[in-house]
Amino acid sequence: MRDQVDKITLLKTLEEAGVHFDISLGNGYGWAHITPAQVLEYAKDPQSWLAKCHGVTVEHWRAWIGWLEAGCPCYGITRRDTQCKLGSPRVENARDFQPGVSEYCEMHLGQSALHRNRNDFAVTLRPERGN
Ligand SMILES: [Zn+2]
Repeated sequence: MRDQVDKITLLKTLEEAGVHFDISLGNGYGWAHITPAQVLEYAKDPQSWLAKCHGVTVEHWRAWIGWLEAGCPCYGITRRDTQCKLGSPRVENARDFQPGVSEYCEMHLGQSALHRNRNDFAVTLRPERGN
């Protein structure tokens, strides 16, 4: 606790000396100013902080940013059993992104249900292993 207070004091001293703390929101969203107290919260869990800034859950944010950084691929599987190369329409806003749906082009959107089922399957499969 004392260590935490010392760190905040140090950060406040730096801010008073003209040092500003800004975090990148990623994907061209620019920067957000954070206070010395927020710097420590941010450092503990940057992804949660960024998800909160975008107004979505961490899982949602990870799915969105991972897909964006991968170049907005389509996760659809072609008849030749390869991943679709068309890509899917870019979703600029994390809140507009629909995990399991936005990652498909128009042609493979029907496979989004399979995507969801695969995830459900993975989740329900785990507890059964212990039996
Ligand atoms: Zn596709």
